[in-house]
Amino acid sequence: MKRENNIIFDAAVVGGGPAGMMAAGRAGELGAKVVLLEKNNALGRKLLLTGKGRSNITKAEFNPKELVKKYGREGDFLLYPLSVFGVKETIGFFEKKGLKTKTERGKRIFPQSDKAGDVLGILIDYLKKNKVKITTNSEVGKILKNKNRITKIILKDGREISAKNYIICTGGKSFPGTGSTGDGYKWAKEMGHTVTKLRPALVPLKIKESWPKRAQGLSLKNVELTVFQNGKKQDSRFGELLFTHFGLSGPIVLDLSGEIGELLEKGEVKLFLDLKPALDFQTLDKRIRSDFSKYSNKLFKNCLSDLLPKKLISVIVELSGITPFKKVNEITREERHKLVGVLRGLEMGVCSLLGFGKAIITSGGVLLKEIDSKTMKSKLIENLFFAGEIIDLHGPTGGYNLQFCWSTGYLAGQSAAK
Ligand SMILES: Cc1cc2nc3c(=O)[nH]c(=O)nc-3n(C[C@H](O)[C@H](O)[C@H](O)COP(=O)(O)OP(=O)(O)OC[C@H]3O[C@@H](n4cnc5c(N)ncnc54)[C@H](O)[C@@H]3O)c2cc1C
Repeated sequence: MKRENNIIFDAAVVGGGPAGMMAAGRAGELGAKVVLLEKNNALGRKLLLTGKGRSNITKAEFNPKELVKKYGREGDFLLYPLSVFGVKETIGFFEKKGLKTKTERGKRIFPQSDKAGDVLGILIDYLKKNKVKITTNSEVGKILKNKNRITKIILKDGREISAKNYIICTGGKSFPGTGSTGDGYKWAKEMGHTVTKLRPALVPLKIKESWPKRAQGLSLKNVELTVFQNGKKQDSRFGELLFTHFGLSGPIVLDLSGEIGELLEKGEVKLFLDLKPALDFQTLDKRIRSDFSKYSNKLFKNCLSDLLPKKLISVIVELSGITPFKKVNEITREERHKLVGVLRGLEMGVCSLLGFGKAIITSGGVLLKEIDSKTMKSKLIENLFFAGEIIDLHGPTGGYNLQFCWSTGYLAGQSAAK
C-alpha cells in the first residue's frame, strides 16, 4: 500500500525475534511483500541466548492435546495454531533447511550442533529466500490507527511505514537488554486491547535464608520442591534445582515461579525441599543408620559424605541441630529422626522473584479472548495480528515457548499474507 523507498508492503512485521522472523518468512513465502522491522542492529538476539546458547527449539510431544496442557488453563488456544504448524512441522521446517536436530532428556529438541546461531541462520535464510525486506536499527515508536484500522507505523527516526496488515511480535519484558522492552503492550493498549497483568515468569527466587549461598553452584537432580502458603500445600515439582548466591534456580524452580509470584502477592510463601524424595521416612532412616554404623567412631560432621554432596554437608549439619563434633555413636534416635526430617523438608522462605531482568519469560500479555486463534488476528483492529510472547500465554521450560512462537508466527504470517 505505501512506501518505504516507494515499496508497497502487504505486511509489516514489528520485532525480529523467533515469532516475527517466522511470521515474516511465511508471509513472504506466500508471495506477500513483507518488511520486518527490528530495533537492534541484528535479528534474534534473545534467540541466541535460548537453551544456554544451544536453543531448545521444541518439545518432542506430538499429541497436541497433551502438549497444550502444559500451557495452563487456557492452553487450548494453541490447538488450532498447532494443527497448522505443530511440533512435527517445526522439526520438518528446520530439518528440511539443513538443521539436524536431536532429542535430549525430557523430550527436549536441540540442534545437533548445539548452536542457537544455526537456528537463527536458518530463519535468516528463510527471510532472504522469500524476499522479506529486513530493516534492522529500525525502532518503531508509534502505531497510528483510524477507527479500527492501522494506518501507519512511525519509526523513532521519523521514517513512516504503511502496509495492508501489521503483525506485532515485540515479545515480552524479560531480559530487556536483548531488545524485549515491552513496547508492543503499550501499542496494544492504545489500540483498545486488554493487556493482562505482566509478571516475570520462569524466574529464579530470592530466598530469605542465607544458607543457599553456601551451596551456590550446586545442582541437584531428582529432588522435590513443595510450595506452601498458610500451611496449605499449593504445588510441587520433581526434578533439577540449582543453588545460587541469591537463592534458587534450575528447571523446577523456574517452572514453579509463576505460581509463586501470584502467591507472594497474597502473603508469605514457604518452600520445602525434599533431598531424598525416592525414600520414605523409614527407608531413609535405615540408610542413615547404616552410614552411622559405618562411621560410628567419626564426628557427626564427617559422616555424611556418602549421603550428601560436599557443599550441603555443613548446611545440613547446622540445620539438624546436632553438635558437629558429637561422635556418631552418641547421636540419639530423636536427633537422627530430626536429621531425616531436615533431609526430607529443608525449609525456606521466599523473599521475592528475581525480576524481569532475569526472567526467561513474561507472564501476561494481550488477552487471548481478543485474538482469533484461527488466524492470530486481533478481534478489535481489522488489519492487526499478534504472534509470540506478547500474547497472554506461556509454557514451562523445555522448548514450549519457542514452539508457541513458531506456531503463532507461522499462522499470523500466513493469515496476514492472504
Ligand atoms: C535466557 C533465556 C533462555 C531461553 N531459552 C529458551 C529455550 O531454550 N527454549 C524455549 O522454548 N524458550 C526459551 N526462552 C524463551 C524464548 O526466548 C522466548 O519465548 C522467545 O524469544 C519469544 O520470542 P518473540 O519473537 O515473541 O519475542 P523476542 O524474542 O523477545 O523478540 C522480540 C523482538 O522485537 C524487537 N522489538 C521490541 N520492541 C521493538 C520496537 N519498538 N521496534 C522494533 N523492534 C522491537 C526486539 O528487539 C526483539 O528482537 C528463553 C528465554 C531466555 C531469556
